[in-house]
Amino acid sequence: MTGPATANTANTRRRSPFFPKGRQVEPGRLAEVRALLGDRPRRRDLLIEFLHRIQDRFGHISAGHLAALAHDMGLAQAEIYEVATFYAHFDVIKEGESAPPPLTVRVCMGLVCEMAGAQRLRQDCAGLGGGVRIVEAPCVGACDRAPVAVVGKRQVACARADAVHAAVMAGRTDPEIPAYRSFDAYGAGGGYRVMRAAISGQRSRDALLAEVEASGLRGLGGAGFPAGRKWRFLQGAPKPRVLAVNADEGEPGTFKDRWCLDTDPHRLIEGALIAAWAVEAEEIYIYVRDEYAQAHAVLPVEIDKVRAAGLANGVAIHLRRGAGAYICGEESAMLESLEGKRGLPRNRPPFPAERGLNGRPTLIHNVETLFWLREILEQGAEAYQRAGRPRLYSVSGRVARPGVVVAPAAVTARQLVEERAGGMLPGHAFKAYLPGGASGGILPAELADLPLDFGHLEPHGCFVGSAAVIILSDRDDIRPVAANLLRFFEDESCGQCTPCRVGCEKMLALINAPVWDTALIRELSQAMRDASICGLGQAAPNPVLSALRFFGEEVAR
Ligand code: SF4
Repeated sequence: MTGPATANTANTRRRSPFFPKGRQVEPGRLAEVRALLGDRPRRRDLLIEFLHRIQDRFGHISAGHLAALAHDMGLAQAEIYEVATFYAHFDVIKEGESAPPPLTVRVCMGLVCEMAGAQRLRQDCAGLGGGVRIVEAPCVGACDRAPVAVVGKRQVACARADAVHAAVMAGRTDPEIPAYRSFDAYGAGGGYRVMRAAISGQRSRDALLAEVEASGLRGLGGAGFPAGRKWRFLQGAPKPRVLAVNADEGEPGTFKDRWCLDTDPHRLIEGALIAAWAVEAEEIYIYVRDEYAQAHAVLPVEIDKVRAAGLANGVAIHLRRGAGAYICGEESAMLESLEGKRGLPRNRPPFPAERGLNGRPTLIHNVETLFWLREILEQGAEAYQRAGRPRLYSVSGRVARPGVVVAPAAVTARQLVEERAGGMLPGHAFKAYLPGGASGGILPAELADLPLDFGHLEPHGCFVGSAAVIILSDRDDIRPVAANLLRFFEDESCGQCTPCRVGCEKMLALINAPVWDTALIRELSQAMRDASICGLGQAAPNPVLSALRFFGEEVAR
């Protein structure tokens, strides 16, 4: 069965009496990993951070590096492998496989980018030549600049590849740092006044909680759970407690959290410190999606300033980096990822307020929820209510001025288009809109006068979620829109439960058929809604069901 032993093939190594069986740790790879990790504690929850270090340094993660990392952390190689291969931003290369080119350009193929010509940009980029790898990416959170390509870590807005080519040639691959409000400017404008009042005892925890409850502030990441009620759960939970900040917005069409981070990071940091103080959390974890490389550059610097000013009040603040998995925006999947594992949503109960991060009671807030805290606590709950409970809408698609709009919770899509986004693009007529990104369904323009608030869209089979409002025009067919969204869900399903994993794939096949089998589509939708573990699988059929409900004649053609 075997030939004579030779010195240097993997097979020979396995059979030779001079080498132990299995993948061995190579001293050279181990030295490289140890140099990258330095004296950081080899804690399991840091696994994804360590994988990033290897990926950033070598442009991929080789089998040799995986084996070395496993050895150094005292974990099984299989465990490290399953985590590394779960996340899209890690390139795991087995023995005998070629490493990818040194530079990756990710062309966003999210719905808004596709509407703006991402297919052509993708084809154009294919001619960039050697040393560059072109890959398709799900929504990168830049729909206001669509179409977009990400060169290394720099987002480049461009319809053709010229700007991408220029960035590649000039080596502009670092993130572009936005002109954000600095620590000094924030403080000069009254920033950290609420936090200082809390630390000094001028404002009590009960008073803050009462104000937040009276304001009616809800979770603005999508679920809309009352923020004050979350605080109350935590106040009764055993210590130690943790605050986890969810900055992993990946819903196609959503870019409001990026806007918060890019314009006013201290407003988020102060909001997080206030919430942590209110529930007596000892640690804050901020989980930021990997696509927001500029935030990963800015936040460590600014958090250090807050610590140096004594405003952290003894609370440890940790910044964590996602790795290209939309599902980690689901709160329990985010907790798994923060623990250094695959981002698989958890079954509930127990809820995070009982057993969250590392088994501790955990308060979870979206970036925008924390962003509003300072204003509510400075101006008062009544003022926030009088202003119509304002929130941030990410408006994109066929409008003249896409971007983040601050508007009351009862604003309508028509008002956003006509009064805030500069109207429709020339030559486009308002046909339909997505009120809540990929998951929130699709509504016709005839229903554009509905308030975009929790509870108003549900009777129409839709929801506002994270308020990602994508405007479609008479030039957009509903079938390709639904197909784009289903492709996204199929790609991003974590695969843990069959109704979602298989359901997304089957649904995509059904809507790509020349004629839609509506009875089967409805049956499959029901199974996905009833039996999927988390919101991804439950909401994935929404665009298709909306298409049947409101655009039946068009999709039947
Ligand atoms: Fe994973 Fe989809 Fe199941 Fe959610 S519904 S746990 S994303 S397979």
